[in-house]
Amino acid sequence: MKNYRHLNSRDEKKLKLYRDGKKNIKKLFKWATIGLGIVLVFMLGMIAFYFVLDKDSTVSHKKTETSSVGFEQVDAQDDMEGLSELDKMELKRESEKEKIISDSQSTKTNKPDNEFFNFSHWNKYCDPELIVINGGNKLPADFEVKTKICRGKEISAIAALDLEQMIIDAKKDGVLLWISSGYRSVDLQSRLFNRQIEREKSKGKEVISQEEAEKRAARVVARPHTSEHNTGLAVDFNGVEDDFYSTKEYKWLMDNAHRYGFIERYQKRWTKRTGVIYEPWHFRFVGKKYAPLIKESGKCLEEYVKSELIGNILEGKV
Ligand SMILES: [Zn+2]
Repeated sequence: MKNYRHLNSRDEKKLKLYRDGKKNIKKLFKWATIGLGIVLVFMLGMIAFYFVLDKDSTVSHKKTETSSVGFEQVDAQDDMEGLSELDKMELKRESEKEKIISDSQSTKTNKPDNEFFNFSHWNKYCDPELIVINGGNKLPADFEVKTKICRGKEISAIAALDLEQMIIDAKKDGVLLWISSGYRSVDLQSRLFNRQIEREKSKGKEVISQEEAEKRAARVVARPHTSEHNTGLAVDFNGVEDDFYSTKEYKWLMDNAHRYGFIERYQKRWTKRTGVIYEPWHFRFVGKKYAPLIKESGKCLEEYVKSELIGNILEGKV
């Protein structure tokens, strides 16, 4: 028979301490695990939050900055002195172009064709100075334009005299107007557009389809047959500068251009209908009869022709 030693009170205390210690360690482990879990979940949450937030702010940032730049502007600059000038403009434009291109969600300057009112019928029969050309209304295949040289730039012959007179009269008022871009051939437009497609393809690491490359190129350079400059009726003034709207030249044009048959073509509030964002430097010849009426109406060319001219024909008023 074995001889067991009975636990005395000291042994009991030791045993209790030992058991309690074990319990405490277990407790500690339990809470440490819970704590670690919470920290881990929190960190994952933070990472996800920052990822989403950062993405959002990048997009909106780009959108805001894009709103001051339009493809017509870059397009116009492309043509300022012909192809040889293109590379000189490269540095100035590159950052702005990047913003437009990477803003693939924006539809501001790239509306699908079916969102435009169809002016194809109108364009066939209207007076030549009232033709409506935009992203959804191409220049008719048989469109012909006779040009004259005005201040070293080609401009439609039907607009050249009035443009010349306007520049002369502006100078009398101490306002210096000069032409950055007038008539642009469809051929030149095609070359600019195709060049931009190649640029889009060689840009970045991703491989993009022809369709996607064209879509992106169209944000920077107007597609052939869709630029108003192809008609010879559009004029870009004084270097195509973003802040042109704040100059006395712009103010003079706003007060007087209609008297010479010109209207401001791309105001901010018309972007949805024109498909082109604010371009204060771009004026369009519509003739002396309609320019004051269109200005007075507060409507863009698309809207005025649709509601007033086509509307009147449909209602039998004309
Ligand atoms: Zn223009």
